[in-house]
Amino acid sequence: MNVQNIEQYRVGAEPFYRVTAGEDALYEAAYARRMPVMLKGPTGCGKSRFVEYMAWKLGRPLITVACNEDMTASDLVGRYLLDKDGTVWQDGPLTTAARIGAICYLDEVVEARQDTTVVIHPLTDHRRQLPLDKKGELLEAHPDFQLVISYNPGYQSLMKDLKQSTKQRFAALDFDYPEAELEAEIVARETGVDSETAGKLVQVAHRTRNLKGHGLDEGISTRLLVYAGQMIAEGVEPVAACQMTLVTPLTDDPDMRQTLQAAVETFF
Ligand code: ADP
Repeated sequence: MNVQNIEQYRVGAEPFYRVTAGEDALYEAAYARRMPVMLKGPTGCGKSRFVEYMAWKLGRPLITVACNEDMTASDLVGRYLLDKDGTVWQDGPLTTAARIGAICYLDEVVEARQDTTVVIHPLTDHRRQLPLDKKGELLEAHPDFQLVISYNPGYQSLMKDLKQSTKQRFAALDFDYPEAELEAEIVARETGVDSETAGKLVQVAHRTRNLKGHGLDEGISTRLLVYAGQMIAEGVEPVAACQMTLVTPLTDDPDMRQTLQAAVETFF
């Protein structure tokens, strides 16, 4: 692995992240002991942004993997590929992170099958090793390597949950949408809309978050509010902007869409 390859994983400029409850200090302490960390919370509430920010703050490269149910252990660890000279081994993202001392962020790890998830076990206990069985190599993780996973408790089901033997390898931080004033500040800062508009968007989101479990799987996320703010900042009329970014993505149910639309029209 040459230096150029490591550089591509560096977080260049400081990502904008507003600390909400001392999570940065807690994360730093966990990182000091290279403790695996799980970030729990609904989609679009700032988990990925937080990891980027912490990687930047700690000066570590960051390798992010979006997990899905078709992902195999080889997709994480690596595989032999055929090229003109025969077969060459290609490290997967987890192996690369363990070699170069990166923070490896497995986003939505619940999506991966359990036989895929177990490959992280030997990396997350005192061994800090990754067996590359097909290659016949036992990789000792770089001293700076750390594993971080995200997990959305809302999607939890009997079929799709992490095994206790996986869960209990991680310290965990709870994430949620920021409290109203702070969320409005984030939306204003991320999009350039004025604070009044940002405040109204947050109020729309709050209405929908109360509908979680009553016709909606999840309420409007901070990410969608940022989209709405961006559309408005582009000059789109607010009701149309909200329809495109807050109503239409969230649900296909006509009654629920009407309810969301009414919430938008209450504020805009
Ligand atoms: P997740 O990983 O939880 O799905 P993201 O980290 O992608 O969500 O967050 C979505 C968006 O929300 C970010 O792009 C950012 O604009 C905004 N955001 C959420 N929380 C914060 C925060 N505390 N500070 C700055 N931006 C935030």
